[in-house]
Amino acid sequence: MVYDVVVIGAGPAGCAAALTLAKAGLSAGLFDKAVFPRDKTCGDALIPDAFQALKKLGLLQRVIGSSYPTHGMRLFSCDGSEVLIRAHGACMPRPKLDELLLNSAIEAGARFLPGHDFAGMLDEDEKIYRVEFDAGGEIVSARARWVLLATGAHPAPIARAGLLLRAECSSFAVRQYVRNERLAKGFNELVFAFDTAVKGGYGWVFPGPDAVFNIGIGFFGSAHKHNNPRRHYERFIAKFPLARELMRDGEMVGPLKGAPLRTGLSGTRFADGGLLGIGECIGSTFPLTGEGIGKAMETGILAAEAIIANHDLSRAAAAQAYTRSIDALQPKFEAYRKAEFLFNWPYLSNKLVTHTSKNEHTRSKVEGLVNETVDPTFLSTLSGWRRILFH
Ligand SMILES: Cc1cc2nc3c(=O)[nH]c(=O)nc-3n(C[C@H](O)[C@H](O)[C@H](O)COP(=O)(O)OP(=O)(O)OC[C@H]3O[C@@H](n4cnc5c(N)ncnc54)[C@H](O)[C@@H]3O)c2cc1C
Repeated sequence: MVYDVVVIGAGPAGCAAALTLAKAGLSAGLFDKAVFPRDKTCGDALIPDAFQALKKLGLLQRVIGSSYPTHGMRLFSCDGSEVLIRAHGACMPRPKLDELLLNSAIEAGARFLPGHDFAGMLDEDEKIYRVEFDAGGEIVSARARWVLLATGAHPAPIARAGLLLRAECSSFAVRQYVRNERLAKGFNELVFAFDTAVKGGYGWVFPGPDAVFNIGIGFFGSAHKHNNPRRHYERFIAKFPLARELMRDGEMVGPLKGAPLRTGLSGTRFADGGLLGIGECIGSTFPLTGEGIGKAMETGILAAEAIIANHDLSRAAAAQAYTRSIDALQPKFEAYRKAEFLFNWPYLSNKLVTHTSKNEHTRSKVEGLVNETVDPTFLSTLSGWRRILFH
């Protein structure tokens, strides 16, 4: 079968790309090794950048209609101080979100092929790629002028596509579901906790549909290499008051699950000829927060737009256009990466939370960062941090 574009991986990045391509009239084959609905270990929170991407895809109202709404992010520091950051968000378990995205791509005209494990690819004549998949023990192939790799954080398929620069992931996180009818009443905030039980990272408690909370911890930077996530998770739920209360009279729904994250737009080449990497496989997940659904969709849209705009031109033109648009995201990622120092300095994270709670100017700056209405580059300088922590 010959397509305009083969998309490998049907997570948020792959579905956003396939949907955009199909809407523009290009033929898109969307392949995934899994059969859907499939789970993806995640915190399930949609933050403002995800809303922006969903709006662009024409799916915002559908997602809002099927998700659990949140009206703010409550940050807790190690000393128990707290502040509410005003930002609309939502939580939607990933099997449901990803199925909605996938169905929308199929409705737009993309062809979905589940149970296809990416095995390798060959550039046949610098015009057409042959992409091979293992489909239940049988090797099948598809041809396309363009290939989008959207296989997420695991390094093996990225290496197989020839885009991998660094195999090691940048972060690691674990999560568990707990049902608690009592605490779920009126609970409409995403809770983020700096806690000494999670040195080098943070803990979260996110509400969800059917009174089921998503509780987890994540380690960032070099911290994830030195940590036993299960042990730290157990310490976090024993120590952080909200998590402790949720667990006390809550009912566990499924086991603790963990997964690596690739953050910071690093460790993978963005493009090679007509092959473009999108989503977490190029590190599109934010450092510092580990939020990545929004930017995965955004990079999928950007790659699709680069192909649509340059379809009649060379592969190099599309690759350059896409690389430029990803480079434009770099300052924000760089600022978030630098801000990871907060995880190792409880005094400074305490200071950030208390100062933000008392100072309206700082609070609106932090809200602007979360809502992507404030340029984050000031966080790359010492004077920028001094302003946000002390003025
Ligand atoms: C514990 C945890 C909590 C998180 N919490 C949040 C959160 O609350 N909010 C948020 O925004 N982000 C969160 N993230 C990050 C978020 O999960 C990712 O940023 C997001 O899933 C990236 O989307 P993607 O489409 O790039 O990749 P994925 O969602 O990983 O999708 C990749 C797809 O590729 C398929 N695939 C993989 N290998 C192959 C292969 N060889 N052949 C064919 N198909 C393949 C997979 O089956 C999958 O369907 C969290 C991550 C973790 C680990």
